[in-house]
Amino acid sequence: GYRSRAAYKLKEIDEQLGLIKPGQLVVDLGAAPGAWSQYLRRRFAPKVAGQGGAAVGELNGRIVALDLLDFEPVEGVQFIQGDFREEAVANQLAQALGGAAVDLVVSDMAPNLSGVENVDAARIEHLIELALDFCKQHLKTEGALVAKVFHGSGYSQLVELFRQNFQVVKPIKPKASRDRSAETFLVGMRLKRAAR
Ligand code: SAM
Repeated sequence: GYRSRAAYKLKEIDEQLGLIKPGQLVVDLGAAPGAWSQYLRRRFAPKVAGQGGAAVGELNGRIVALDLLDFEPVEGVQFIQGDFREEAVANQLAQALGGAAVDLVVSDMAPNLSGVENVDAARIEHLIELALDFCKQHLKTEGALVAKVFHGSGYSQLVELFRQNFQVVKPIKPKASRDRSAETFLVGMRLKRAAR
């Protein structure tokens, strides 16, 4: 099983869009407690018969995960603890990549919500802007970003930000996200301003 039901959200997105392929370099932002990393790992490791389908063996691909909080290591996943909003942490992440271009960035980061609509919308937008900046620097032209957002105030601006940066933008609401939650995922594919 997975550490959190969150894994099924990424699984649904992956199954709809086919974003995750063995051999990729993936960055997992807001990764704790680690369910998305576990899912990625399973997609990159061959399943061995007689082990209940558990993913074991050599990892074909690379996963770099980041979170404010510590988490129990996921085998084969390189973990960086820190706040993505801090430049020093973003630099640490860049250093871990060692100049390699990233195939996919997945972000399940959610800010602490204050309950004040404008404040929360600004916090969400800030994290998205940072994720987009990161993509502009490190993502392959053909790469993709999956990021959690929330319906409501500021949503259309976030879609617009994605459209400015990606050729294709798709909102996805996985069934594993509870119906009444405002949580939704924006998927951006193929960078418009490509440096890599
Ligand atoms: N995808 C994860 C999984 O499958 O286990 C669940 C992620 S959880 C919903 C959101 C995470 O985002 C939290 O662990 C939180 O610490 C992290 N987070 C929020 N703001 C962050 C920031 N500024 N920098 C790094 N991580 C952050």
